Amino acid sequence: MSAYDYLIVGAGLYGSVFARQMLDRGKKVLVVEKRGHVAGNIYTERVGEIDVHKYGAHIFHTSDAEVWAYVQQFAHFLPFINQPIANYKGEIYNLPFNMNTFARLWGVARPEQAQAVIEEQRRALAGKTPANLEEQAISLVGTDIYEKLIKGYTEKQWGAECKDLPAFIIRRLPVRFTYDNNYFNDLYQGVPEEGYTALVERLLEGADVRLDTDYLADRAYWDAQADTIVYTGPVDAFYEFRYGALDYRTLRFEEETLLVENYQGVAVMNFTDRETPYTRIIEHKHFTKAADAETIITREYPAAWQPGDEPFYPLNDEKNCERFAQYETLMQQEARVRFGGRLGRYRYYDMHQVVRLALDDAAKEC
Ligand code: FAD
Ligand code: UDP
Repeated sequence: MSAYDYLIVGAGLYGSVFARQMLDRGKKVLVVEKRGHVAGNIYTERVGEIDVHKYGAHIFHTSDAEVWAYVQQFAHFLPFINQPIANYKGEIYNLPFNMNTFARLWGVARPEQAQAVIEEQRRALAGKTPANLEEQAISLVGTDIYEKLIKGYTEKQWGAECKDLPAFIIRRLPVRFTYDNNYFNDLYQGVPEEGYTALVERLLEGADVRLDTDYLADRAYWDAQADTIVYTGPVDAFYEFRYGALDYRTLRFEEETLLVENYQGVAVMNFTDRETPYTRIIEHKHFTKAADAETIITREYPAAWQPGDEPFYPLNDEKNCERFAQYETLMQQEARVRFGGRLGRYRYYDMHQVVRLALDDAAKEC
């Protein structure tokens, strides 16, 4: 008999939702977390009145009514509509690409006029089916938007030329012929009033949580503590890199407190030229309209991932997908280990997708 029914490796959103579901069924749950805090990448830290998103801006958005209702049980959400601004060498444009963007760029007023400009610029493709990100972008929004708002940002973000990147990266960016600056198409959107850390702490109520604890450093000991293991760390590390390391992009965050009340007037500003070394500046107070005389901003610098860095974005190119498929054959043979979350599944997931996955996976447990 083990002391716990479940050992959860990683106190991120996936591990915490899974833990909650098991606790509600009367199971005993132990959570081990490598970092010194819970919440994984959605971790927020309260400074004065401001919730600082320590691992990048996080806006909860979903069209899944069940997921939305689920998270409301653990936090009060404030309405927030993400309306980021693109700054191209000092020229200001609305995102995502919509009638406000087109009007500013081309002086057009109606959808039909914007469509005609894009149609004209699309001729650069000479009827080719888009085979890479550059061609996909031109096919979606034409050459002007590609040059000013996509090329520089994307090449900084991914460290490669748009010609060499897969088209799917930008397929999820909305293009609209309405005057609508909402970055997301989802039905529900908001941010937790008291921050994501408080939400996760509520999810974990009733579980035993060990922080600063790396499961892989003493695996045999932790394995002996529970009947079933839910692993939400990197899958290649779980198998001691048997088929090689999976590649990621990482981010470096530079945080600064400024003695001004309002620095950039918006929560997220993207710098879409190639020369500015960061991709975006987050001004945290705007998420919750925090009343504070000072402000806190974070510059986000993308970088090549090296072992030891935080793995933020899975690369999901052909080489890495094949490598992950090899790991998957091993994962499927595990009798008492489940793999979850963005690192366990080597997939970029938004928060609502992680909640959905954890709820569905937990429902499969008997
Ligand atoms: P994680 O949060 O990474 O949790 C895994 C945990 O496991 C970590 O805490 C890690 O320390 C721990 N761990 C790993 N290995 C071990 C080990 N050996 N022992 C113990 N613990 C271990 N989603 C949205 O919906 N909206 C957004 O606006 C949004 N913005 C984002 C911005 C950025 C910059 C990034 C990178 C992501 C963003 N996301 C957003 C996605 C969101 O961050 C993820 O959906 C979510 O954090 C995934 O949760 P997880 O539990 O799968 O992973
Ligand atoms: N993108 C862009 N310009 C922008 C914002 C996004 O070209 O101003 C592209 C870029 O390639 C990025 C992708 O669209 O990787 C997806 O953007 P999203 O905002 O969803 O990325 P995330 O917030 O996950 O980093």
